[in-house]
Amino acid sequence: MPRTTLNGQFTTPATLDGTTPGTSRTSRSGRFFRRGAGRAVVASTLAGAFLLGGQPMLAGAAEDGGPDNFVEVQSTESVLPAFYDNPARGLTSLVNETKAEADRVAAEEAAAAEAAARPDFVKPAEGTFTSGFGGRWGTTHYGVDIANSIGTPVVAATEGTVINAGPATGFGQWVRVQAPDGTITVYGHVESFTAAVGQQVAAGEQIATVGNRGQSTGPHLHFEVQVGGQKIDPQPWLAERGITLQ
Ligand SMILES: [Zn+2]
Repeated sequence: MPRTTLNGQFTTPATLDGTTPGTSRTSRSGRFFRRGAGRAVVASTLAGAFLLGGQPMLAGAAEDGGPDNFVEVQSTESVLPAFYDNPARGLTSLVNETKAEADRVAAEEAAAAEAAARPDFVKPAEGTFTSGFGGRWGTTHYGVDIANSIGTPVVAATEGTVINAGPATGFGQWVRVQAPDGTITVYGHVESFTAAVGQQVAAGEQIATVGNRGQSTGPHLHFEVQVGGQKIDPQPWLAERGITLQ
């Protein structure tokens, strides 16, 4: 006979020794015990719990208009291809468009970051500012002088195309670079040059070295800026671009 254990569940000796065949019993806690299952009692209990959970659903479906549900399922099945395919295509398209937009934004941001990191204008040489633009010694000095030892790197102040690289009267040797906006920068007295006419250079790219060639009183770079054919004072032009010489 069933008896109540300390935790309130029913159990029977028969459940454990397997001598009573056949019947089932639900404990007060809702557990399902199968008599006569012997040592398989635990597995049966688990299966019983599963069945107990499933049976009300089956019964409910049958009592609450099961046939209608079947009709609905059949109807839905006939609609499934259209219902899923079009939204699926739409979703795929949306995902692709969203990804494309994200990629485009990421590429723009990367390009902007790269442009921000790349200097638009660079001081053409390190050294000591020794002479400015304007009247000097009864003549006009059309550039600025930056003194440093021979061999000091001279870099392009702007990106652009090398339009001269070689001998030049007064400068001994020079390099000239024309920026995309037409501005021409001039690098005079150079000891050597590594840029070639027609070459595209970036701002900051080395094009020559400081020298003492031509009409020069000591190793220095003579730097000029020409805008619209006019030689202008490089100092304010550089200052507007964040570069100071002294
Ligand atoms: Zn000079």
